[in-house]
Order: sequence, then C-alpha cells, then structure tokens
Amino acid sequence: MALSTEYLTSAELFERALELIPGGVNSPVRAFRSVGGAPFFTRSAQASRLTTADGQELIDYVCTWGPAIHGHNRLEVREAIAQALNRGTSFGTPNPYEVAMAERVVELVPSVEKVRMVNSGTEATMSAIRLARGYTKRNKIIKFAGCYHGHVDSLLVAAGSGALTLGTPDSAGVPPSFAAETIVLPYNDVAALEAAFAEHPDEIAAIIVEPYPANCGLILPLPGYLQKLRDVCTQHGTVLIFDEVMTGFRVALGGVQEREGVTPDLTALGKIIGGGLPVGAFGGKAEIMDLLAPLGPVYQAGTLSGNPLAMAAGVAALDLLITEDPYTRLEAAGAQIRDALEGVAKELGLPLQVPQVGSMFALFFTEAPVTQFESALTSDKSMFNTVFHYALENGVYLPPSAYETCFISTAHTNSDIEQTIEVLCHGMKEIT
Ligand code: PLP
Repeated sequence: MALSTEYLTSAELFERALELIPGGVNSPVRAFRSVGGAPFFTRSAQASRLTTADGQELIDYVCTWGPAIHGHNRLEVREAIAQALNRGTSFGTPNPYEVAMAERVVELVPSVEKVRMVNSGTEATMSAIRLARGYTKRNKIIKFAGCYHGHVDSLLVAAGSGALTLGTPDSAGVPPSFAAETIVLPYNDVAALEAAFAEHPDEIAAIIVEPYPANCGLILPLPGYLQKLRDVCTQHGTVLIFDEVMTGFRVALGGVQEREGVTPDLTALGKIIGGGLPVGAFGGKAEIMDLLAPLGPVYQAGTLSGNPLAMAAGVAALDLLITEDPYTRLEAAGAQIRDALEGVAKELGLPLQVPQVGSMFALFFTEAPVTQFESALTSDKSMFNTVFHYALENGVYLPPSAYETCFISTAHTNSDIEQTIEVLCHGMKEIT
C-alpha cells in the first residue's frame, strides 16, 4: 500500500500535519519548541541511524525516547513480531507470550514477584499509584520535582519531560482537587522527606520516584538517598514505587534497583520491554499485586494489554539483553562520551557537566552541581540549543530539549561514538 504522504519532504509533511494534528505532533516534545525550528520526519530507521524524509542520515541518541536499546529494526525483534503476526494481532484472551514476558520480568527485576502488563508507562504509574492507595487505604502520595511519570493527572505536578520543556510543569485541565493529595519534594533532600513524614505520619500511601531522574536531564542519587527512601517507607507503612519505565533493562537487567541494591515495593516498567511496540507494566510484591481485580478490589484493565505482538517484540528484546549482556560495553561508550565532552568543554572554558550512567547521559551547561531539579534548571538552554542544531546539521540527533536524556544503543559502533564526539566538540566551539 502506497501512502499519499510517502514521498513528501519534512517541511511538506509538517505543513500538512500542522493542519491536522495539534502542533503537528502526537507527543509534544517532538515539536522542537524548545530548540527552535521545525522537526524532521523519519522515513525509516536501521541500527544506530534514522533516515529522514529528506534523505539525511542521522546517528540517533533519542532511540525512540528509550526503547531502542538494540538500535532500530533489529532482525531478531522483527522476526519475533513477524512470527507472532502470522498467528493473529490480538485475541482478547490470555496468550502464551504474556506468560513468557512475565517469567522474564519476575526473574530479572528484583522487586517483582507478580506483574501486570499495560499499554504505556503512563498506565503503569497510574495503576501502581491506585494499587498503593488501595493497599494502604491512604490518599497522599509523594513525587519529586522534575520527575515525569507520564501524563497521569495527579502526577502532572512539577513534572519533567515535555511539560518542563514547554514551560508548563502543571497542566491545565487537572482540577486542583486531583493534585491536592500530591506532595512535591525536592529530590536528594533528606530533610524535606523527613519533614513531609513528620507532618503526615500515617497519611502517605506511596512515594513514586524515578530512581535516576532522567526527565530533567539526568540526576544521580547522592550516596544513601535511595536507601533512605526505602527505610522511611518501611518505617511508615508507605509503598515505595520505583518508576523504571526509562531505566528498567537500560542501566542493568534488573534496572536501578539491581545496580543500587535498593528494592522498592512496586516497579513501573515500559519502553524497552515492548521492543519498540506500545507497552507498559507494573509489578511488585505478590501481597500487593493480588489486590488487583479479579482477585481483589483494585480495578485495572486493558483491551490490548498483553498484546501478542508487543509481548513477542519485548520478549525478543529482553532475550537479546540476556544473551548478549551489553551493559559493560554500553557503560564504556557512555563514559567515553562523557570524558571527551567534559575534557573539550574545559579547554574551551565552557561550564559543561555530563552526568552519565550506563548508556544514558545528559548535557548540562552550568557550574552548579546538578543534584536537584532547581540546579538542572540553571543549565544554559541557548548553549545546548547551539550544540543541538550544529549536531543535527552534521548528522547527529540529540533529544530536542536541554532537559532530556540521550541514549546509546548496542547498535552504536565505535566509529559512531567517535564521530559523535567529534561533531559535539565542534558544536561546542560554535558557542564560544
Ligand atoms: N515514566 C517515565 C520515567 C518516563 O520517562 C515516561 C515517558 O517518557 C513515562 C513514565 C510515561 O511513559 P509513556 O510515554 O509510555 O506513557
């Protein structure tokens, strides 16, 4: 089937999209509002590269915002989807793929004894919050400034990602009463945490946290901070939810909880576990998960949840991670980029920090140590935008916002990494 839009350029597509789709995009951060200019459209993607509708090839560090840990269009994932496709696209009954997926998640993610599949990270965090409230019979939740947990009403408060990029951390359309039970705290601040529990000792159902906040650039926990969250939750009967939608299977097979040795009660997953198809999951202690319908009183459901194509793609993606164990190589690639960029920035007198963990890294142009959302906001956007546009013109695609994280995939070759470093270093020279 030939699409009527197949041979249009990015500019022609965007003009048409602007008439038909709000802002021309189906997710706001794709719109290039923060960096300026118009977005390109992607015609196809293979391994580490996107090919735009204009025929330009780009080394991609967005990796579909996280899922593409194997790069694009990996043969094994495509074959798994094709095999599943031959058997049907959706059944509305349980299917063998969802059991295979659950087996892997339960085996690999330390906190997960039982898991339920959903269709997006947003659904995963929304459902985890409802479950935590049902379990504790309490209403209040704690989130951290700059963390993004999808577009859940009660979590769109001081949120990162597109909401931050567009300068609208709180969304219109969320009644104040929906967010009234949400307490927003600064990340990495033990005193603020203790004060919140002192004020509401028996009222807090859950703490939800991106254990490595990665929707306002990338912030790493101070030593002992995640363990402190664990201890406080245990002490107060509060459910600790790690939102590992981005970090799950990205920073280690068992996510941040494996790397840091801190086990939450519930975990939200997404992105990588769909192998590039729409997916999410939440799981945790059986005692809590068994409160879900049909066993218990907490309702949660989904027409396409556990979809066989998404499960087949996800299982193939996870099996590649298990057999190839790419984490040491990804860590080295991330460190190589960090060291090279920070070194050149120093020579140029630019205040660049590159927080990095495994295959995730971010560029912060600021002197302030970035341990919190407030310090992330001091990053000089115009410096980032200069580097972004120089990189794009020269074949390297960074996330179109100073507040997003870059992802390296297993398909990025040594020469891709070297080329990227060269381009980004030249881009920094454009600033000076
Ligand atoms: N949680 C985190 C940490 C995320 O980064 C995202 C999306 O970027 C979400 C939740 C929401 O996931 P989705 O966009 O699949 O709804």
